[in-house]
Order: sequence, then C-alpha cells, then structure tokens
Amino acid sequence: MKMPDPDQSIVAKRDEIAETLREIVPGEGVILSDRELQVYESDGLTAYRQPPLMAVLPQTVEQVSQVMAYCHANGIKVVPRGSGTSLSGGALPLADAILLCMGKFNKVVEVDYDNRCAVVQPGVTNLGITKAVEGKGFYYAPDPSSQIACSIGGNVAENAGGVHCLKYGLTTNNLLGIEMVLIDGTVLRFGGKHLDSPGYDLLGLMTGSEGLLGVVTEVTVRILPKPETARALLLGFSSSESAGDCVAAIISDGIVPGGMEMMDKPAIEAAEAFVNAGYPLDVEALLIVELDGPQAEVDYLIDEVSAIATKCGAITSRISQNEEERQLFWAGRKAAFPAVGRLTPDYYCMDGTIPRNKLPLVLKRMREMSEHYGLRVANVFHAGDGNLHPLIMYDANNPGELEKAEDFGSDILRLCVEVGGVLTGEHGVGVEKRDLMPEMFNEIDLKQQLRVKCAFDSKALLNPGKVFPELHRCAELGRMHIHKGKLPFPDIPRF
Ligand SMILES: Cc1cc2nc3c(=O)[nH]c(=O)nc-3n(C[C@H](O)[C@H](O)[C@H](O)COP(=O)(O)OP(=O)(O)OC[C@H]3O[C@@H](n4cnc5c(N)ncnc54)[C@H](O)[C@@H]3O)c2cc1C
Repeated sequence: MKMPDPDQSIVAKRDEIAETLREIVPGEGVILSDRELQVYESDGLTAYRQPPLMAVLPQTVEQVSQVMAYCHANGIKVVPRGSGTSLSGGALPLADAILLCMGKFNKVVEVDYDNRCAVVQPGVTNLGITKAVEGKGFYYAPDPSSQIACSIGGNVAENAGGVHCLKYGLTTNNLLGIEMVLIDGTVLRFGGKHLDSPGYDLLGLMTGSEGLLGVVTEVTVRILPKPETARALLLGFSSSESAGDCVAAIISDGIVPGGMEMMDKPAIEAAEAFVNAGYPLDVEALLIVELDGPQAEVDYLIDEVSAIATKCGAITSRISQNEEERQLFWAGRKAAFPAVGRLTPDYYCMDGTIPRNKLPLVLKRMREMSEHYGLRVANVFHAGDGNLHPLIMYDANNPGELEKAEDFGSDILRLCVEVGGVLTGEHGVGVEKRDLMPEMFNEIDLKQQLRVKCAFDSKALLNPGKVFPELHRCAELGRMHIHKGKLPFPDIPRF
C-alpha cells in the first residue's frame, strides 16, 4: 500500500520542530525516542506500521490550537489519534507528520440530566460515558465492540456504530455538538445542547470526517434513560439463507429490535470455544435478537419474534431468562473478534454494507472467494443494518499471504458495491479502502468531496494519504489541464 512520500526537508528538521513543540506542550508532551514511538506505529489495522515523526500529547485546547497553527505555518502534516483502535488505518502515522494524540483529554466536563446530555473531552472512552451516567439510570447508546478502549473523539471521526445502532442510531444520531480545532489553529463550535442548528449541517459534515477536516476537542452527546427491561433470543438456523429471511421478516413486520446480530459457523465455533456462551454448535447461522423497552412490550415482542423465527425454520431457540443469561448471549458476539484471533496468527477485519436481502448471495460468493484464495473467513455482522464484518484469516509469516488477504478483502468490498451496498458501514475508509473509493465514486464525486476538504485544509496537511486515492493541490481542482502530456503540479505525490 503506497503512502505519500515523506517530505525529507521536514524529517531533517525533526529536532528543531520538537524544540518548538516542547515550548507549546511542556513536560512529557512530546515523544521522540524510537522505543517510545513504537507503541504509536500502528492502530487496529496492524498489517501496516510506520513510526511518526514524533508524538505530541496536548492537554488543553489552547495547546492543540497552537500546535496546529505552528504546523500550518511550517507545512508540517498532522495525524490525529484517539485510542488507536481504528480498523481502517485512519490513525496510521506518517514519517513526516506529527501524531497528535488526544488521550490526555480524558475528563467528563458536565452531565446535564435536565437536557439529557453529557459534555466530555474527546479522549473519554465510549464506555466511560455510560459509566459516568449509569448511576442515575442513563446510558450512551452507540456501543462499538471496542467500547472499553475507543475514544469518543475517534467515534465522532469514524461515525462509529455498534450492536444497538439498529434502534438507537450511529454516533451521528446521538451527537449534539462538538468543539473542533482547524489546521490553522481556529477553534470552532458546531451544535450544542440544543437539538438543531441554523445553517448548513456542519456537525453532520464533521461526523465521519476521519481526522481530515479538524481535531475534535470537546463532544456533547445525547444520553438516554436505560430501557426498563431487555431480553434476547438466541436463534439457530440450518442455513444463512433462512437466518437472512428471518431478519427480513422481523423488520418487515415493523419490529425494530434493540440489536440483531448474525454469526456464521466458523464465528459461532470460535466464540463458543472462547467464552462458553452456550451457543448451539450444530447450526450454520446464529441470530441474536434483543428486544428492549417496557416489560409488557418486550414480553409481547419476544413471542412475536419467536413465532416469526419458527416460520422461517429456526432449528434452535432460546430466550434469556435473566440479565446474566442475556449478557452471556452477547458475550460470545462481543468477543467474536478476539475469539477468531485464537484460530489464526493474523486476521483482516473487513467492513462493508449491503442491502439486507442480498445477504445469502453475498455469503455464497464469499465462500467461493474463500476457496479461490485458499483463506478461511468467519462472518460476524450487524444483520439488521446489513453491515458485514468478514474476518479473513491469514498468516503474515507466509510470504504473499497478506497480499492475498488484501485482494480477498478488496473483492468482498467490490461485491458489496456491486449488489447495491457501500464500502464501509462503520470502520471508515482510512488507508484500507482508500484505493477502492473509485469503485463507488466517479472522478466528479471525488473532486467534489475534495473541494470540501480544501475548504477546511487547503494545504492538505491533516491526515493526508487517507480516504482519497489521490492527493490534489486545491488550486488544481476543477481546472486540470494536461498540456503536451505534462502533468500540472508534478511535485504532488500521486499513488
Ligand atoms: C476489537 C475491535 C472491535 C471494534 N468494533 C467496532 C464496532 O463494533 N463498531 C465500530 O464502529 N467500530 C469498531 N471498531 C473500530 C474502532 O474502535 C472505531 O473506529 C473507533 O471509533 C476508533 O476510535 P479511536 O479512539 O480508537 O480512534 P483512532 O483509531 O485513534 O482514530 C480513528 C480515526 O479518527 C481520527 N481521530 C481520532 N481522534 C480524533 C479527534 N479527537 N479529532 C479528529 N479526529 C480524530 C483519526 O485521525 C483516525 O482517522 C472496533 C475495533 C476493534 C479493535
């Protein structure tokens, strides 16, 4: 995978840059030693590694603003980082860029129960928000499986989702406001505690912007009262087709479960061996369907879903009888990624979204691809949203296997687009899907998106090499003219 060539004039000035940044972020706020930088050299997409020029750990908005203004004035690239759990390589460092680590922004600023919102710093973990409000019976709904570690700033940047997003929405649906620092050091606020804002939906634009438009320094999220009760069904099927039919039937019946997740046989076996959740091992596909809300409603819907599942051919069915059992049903699903990690030295977690009714077709084609590439694949997915997470197993020690896994992953994502879906559901584009963007967008679409990027970061200093398959100088957009075969701006890296 090709990244922009490092600017050697910046690399040569490393000590001088560090000295200035230490004046802005004193103490241990600038990390230069090779040994200490090792922990930052990759994120959750561990197949790619690159130590940054240096890591900078600011503690105040003023420091972030000054660091950004200095980098802007001196042409230094900046890669923002939260907890580094991105699975698309969004926080992958660059050799000539500072890695701006937001981990020290870890305070809950305010919980406002009257307005049902919490104001937090971006380094607070996703689960940390729920922990701060659960004493009063509230919670923060989006729940990525990485919620114990991932930061809310990273969630905003990736528009993260999770098991409960089918009913409660993704990060974007639970976000009320942010404070953000632009690359020139300007501090801006979008949204707030109120429900809507006048003008363009810039809060929406920033959500999912993958660290390319600015650095989030404060987040205001909606908090919800915990549902009165929640119960889950564990439904086993002899084929993923019938499990897929069951998902479609539940939704078309007008039922919106709190969560509806599917796992295929390899994923079921891996999860069961890892956490002993009591999953049936004689089924091809497993559905976990959770209903939440008032007790009477949940009891009624449990019966409805049971009846639908029977009609769709469920061969096993269990209903959680208490909170402990419900948690156990979920424990296997939530641990599915590390569970698959025990089966293989390496795995590559893909993330694509398809129309729900294409699931059987996509699973069949994926099995054919698995045979073609000679690599096993386990499937875990947010069935209600049509968001797939195929886990491609490979061994990086075998020459050529990483490349094979990458090709397999690309074919899966192309297939998602081919059947009317999209390249990503919740993990973002990052570097992982960057070169596949033209599968989804034509040149005009991509240039229009780049114009938005240029409006906020005209020097392309924020997280370059991510999301867009080609770097452009902003002036070049819309008036590319090739004269006698000579490409304008030949100094711009093209990859
Ligand atoms: C085991 C596992 C399970 C996962 N499960 C899910 C899941 O269920 N759902 C899901 O959506 N994701 C999941 N993820 C992916 C990941 O946890 C999310 O993408 C998460 O939102 C990343 O947050 P982070 O703090 O780790 O961000 P990082 O990895 O540090 O960064 C991610 C991106 O956000 C940018 N960024 C980070 N902080 C800021 C900031 N303050 N301002 C501006 N940009 C910023 C970075 O530049 C980068 O582009 C999983 C990851 C793992 C390892």
